[in-house]
Amino acid sequence: MSLFENTLKQIRKAANLMQLDEEIERVLSVPQRQIEVQIPVRMDDGSLRIFTGFRMQHNNYRGPYKGGIRYHQDVDKEEVLALSAWMTMKCAVVNIPLGGGKGGIIVDPKELSEGELERLTRGYTRLLADFIGPETDVPAPDVNTNGKIMSWIADEYSKIHGRDLKGVVTGKPVESGGSKGRDIATAQGGFFVLQQLVAEMGLDAGSLKVVIQGFGNAGGVAAKLLAAEGYHIVGASDSQGGLICTHGINPDELMNCKVEKNTVRDCGLHVTEIHDIEGMSCSMVSNEELLEQECDILVLAALENQITAKNADKIKAKIILELANGPVDPAADEILARRGIMVVPDILANAGGVTVSYFEMLQNASGEYWSEDQVADKLKPLMVDALKVVKANADKYVCTLREAAFITAMERVRDTIVQKAIF
Ligand code: NAD
Repeated sequence: MSLFENTLKQIRKAANLMQLDEEIERVLSVPQRQIEVQIPVRMDDGSLRIFTGFRMQHNNYRGPYKGGIRYHQDVDKEEVLALSAWMTMKCAVVNIPLGGGKGGIIVDPKELSEGELERLTRGYTRLLADFIGPETDVPAPDVNTNGKIMSWIADEYSKIHGRDLKGVVTGKPVESGGSKGRDIATAQGGFFVLQQLVAEMGLDAGSLKVVIQGFGNAGGVAAKLLAAEGYHIVGASDSQGGLICTHGINPDELMNCKVEKNTVRDCGLHVTEIHDIEGMSCSMVSNEELLEQECDILVLAALENQITAKNADKIKAKIILELANGPVDPAADEILARRGIMVVPDILANAGGVTVSYFEMLQNASGEYWSEDQVADKLKPLMVDALKVVKANADKYVCTLREAAFITAMERVRDTIVQKAIF
């Protein structure tokens, strides 16, 4: 099943529960515009390669299309489509005035030189120039893209239009108009949601064990934030495998070690919190084994479709926090719900990233820039409010947090359609 089919299932399920008007469901089940481009790039050796790129504009009823651009060899149209629809839902869940879009290029960026990457990015921007803009569609970084790539897009777009239009993208470096705190926003938003849930459940952070799949930007920052609050990080992984240390992992040390050794699995004993206790153990595990470890909270911060019908029965965590997009598929959702495992869904848990992107748009428009503390102070109430509304809908419709998050989002899009008499 494609990722977009998963998304359609989620939309259909929520629509049935809330008895959404069938016409609105139909409109939300298709993107408003699908753009596919072929980007010719002169390579360093003089040859010409043509790369395929996409920009999917799912829905803009609540505001400009918003969503990242992914550079990955496995990018496909259906994936970008799914990610664009989730962006519509995500922005609506946190109630920011933005719609949903997403972009991607089929490329392994590690195979390109910096010059080739820049020419690819500028070529993609030229082909999209008529369709993006600070008030129409505002891209941002996603997997394998970063502030530097956003700066190239902003520069190329501004050149085409003959004036400074850096607001065409977010996730820019701070010195080029980016927002402070954007680099930690996804993890921080998820952390605020988790903290609220843990408090409401009467749990003590100090007694909770956490495993993190995907010790990258989102996962690594989440580990640091959680450890600082007293949670015990007992496992982490990256694409090359995982590490379990039952006496706890120091995330700062693991981050340093990962930079040095290029993988977490070789970091072993010297990243444990306690160095001299007998019986202390660290072991290397496979990515599959890591997911099935004994823990209270499993943070998924890597890729899509990590928990499926194949392994959902083996998950031992009590709470799953989805910092990645789409890491639990619909079949696994049903199994986890039956087993009483709470899934904090991606469109809520990782919405901190797009929320601080929205803050960047506000700062670019006003010319007034905020400190990292101000950003966190503005982010926290938005995340906590979103959780409250989603939980209230979960109680009202007797459903999972994912279904309730979709209901929350679709109620808001429906209200906009009605208010603006869109069709
Ligand atoms: P990243 O590239 O910094 O980190 C991803 C990590 O996952 C890397 O360490 C990689 O080695 C690891 N990984 C890849 N395959 C794995 C596997 N099979 N098992 C275990 N680990 C694996 O990317 P990121 O920015 O942290 O994004 C992670 C996820 O979060 C993505 O799904 C992304 O779409 C989502 N997300 C990120 C943001 C953001 O602002 N960064 C916002 C919203 C959603």
